[in-house]
Amino acid sequence: MEHVLELKNISHSYHNTEGETPALKELSFFLKKGEFISIVGPSGCGKSTLLSLIAGLLIPESGTILINGKQLKESTTNIGYMLQRDHLFEWRTIYNNVILGLEIQHMLTARTRRKAHQLLEQYGLESFANARPSELSGGMRQRAALIRTLVLEPDLLLLDEPFSALDYQTRLTVGDDIGQIIKKEQKTAILVTHDLSEAISPGDRVIVLSERPATVQQTIPLSFSLEEDTPLHRRNAPEFKTYFNLIWKELNRNE
Ligand code: ADP
Ligand code: MG
Repeated sequence: MEHVLELKNISHSYHNTEGETPALKELSFFLKKGEFISIVGPSGCGKSTLLSLIAGLLIPESGTILINGKQLKESTTNIGYMLQRDHLFEWRTIYNNVILGLEIQHMLTARTRRKAHQLLEQYGLESFANARPSELSGGMRQRAALIRTLVLEPDLLLLDEPFSALDYQTRLTVGDDIGQIIKKEQKTAILVTHDLSEAISPGDRVIVLSERPATVQQTIPLSFSLEEDTPLHRRNAPEFKTYFNLIWKELNRNE
């Protein structure tokens, strides 16, 4: 099986006037094509640092990051990055927000415009194409942000706590909704979250990170015996609680 992403012994520290903050230590894992992994870990352990390294925004102090078998800096793989805040611009309509990345990357063509409309249509936002972000609910805004990322056709999607700004109720539906969209689009994805249920419901595997400096403490493959394996159905499956307790214990092992 082809590895879209492979991290080998990644270590990284931040340096400032007060000294050194080691954030990641000897961290290794891989991601297969089409796989959805969730990463959980204590607050401040280095999760966002990890995604910034994979996105190429930071350079690791040591270790190797391979994307589709190539060193990160030589890779031409398209990586999509979605953050906690949706970063939609109020002065642009939803459609114009969705195509912003295409514009910036000079990829705006008849085909990609069609793709943008098709995604808006498919995920229930076409009637809001000419609306401003403030006219949409938090969940719809987050969906628009996801469409803006998906329209760039990324081979790898990085999601850094994308639902944490939403209230609990919205978060449940939007989290599951977005999990399902990513599955349907057959994207390879990494979701970072501190919410265990959010990690379990869409994931193929959960990686538990240790306290800072983060390293992989445990990898838990998820398998559900469901006829229709969707994030929402998983929440009611008997296995869900078992996985929840297992990961909970793993997270609190050192306390
Ligand atoms: P998480 O996303 O798991 O909450 P982060 O990756 O954001 O954790 O941060 C890991 C550690 O590195 C934290 O202790 C944080 O304070 C520190 N850190 C993050 N960014 C910087 C930075 N730019 N300069 C110095 N320290 C940083
Ligand atoms: Mg973070």
